[in-house]
Amino acid sequence: MPYLGLPSGQRQRGIGESVTSARDLQRYKELLLEKQRELSSVQGDSGARVPAAGGLEGDLIEQANADEEAELQIRLHQTDGRLSRAIEEAIARIRQGTYGVCEVCKQPISKARLEAVPWARHCRECKEHEHSAG
Ligand SMILES: [Zn+2]
Repeated sequence: MPYLGLPSGQRQRGIGESVTSARDLQRYKELLLEKQRELSSVQGDSGARVPAAGGLEGDLIEQANADEEAELQIRLHQTDGRLSRAIEEAIARIRQGTYGVCEVCKQPISKARLEAVPWARHCRECKEHEHSAG
């Protein structure tokens, strides 16, 4: 088996203890992939369903409701899009070895939080601080 030598610069990790064990990482990765599949199956299911417009005046109200519903669908999809991107980024962080560390304070994110939100980028404290930003 060929040994892929790493540049010596990549070795320094500060404290000897790794933030998240390889086993945990594998688990979080599975959670992320599962969620990703869930999202893509939802997106694949709903095509653009344009209701056939009748010529009746009464349809105006129907049409208004349909528009509202379409808008809601779009909003839901936008949220999904943001989530699937967050998941992709989390998987990339697992590959880079930076997963599970808060982007703001550089402290490890608690396991409980990662279990609930595997794509979390911030620890609970920092998340609460940026509450207004959403
Ligand atoms: Zn933090």
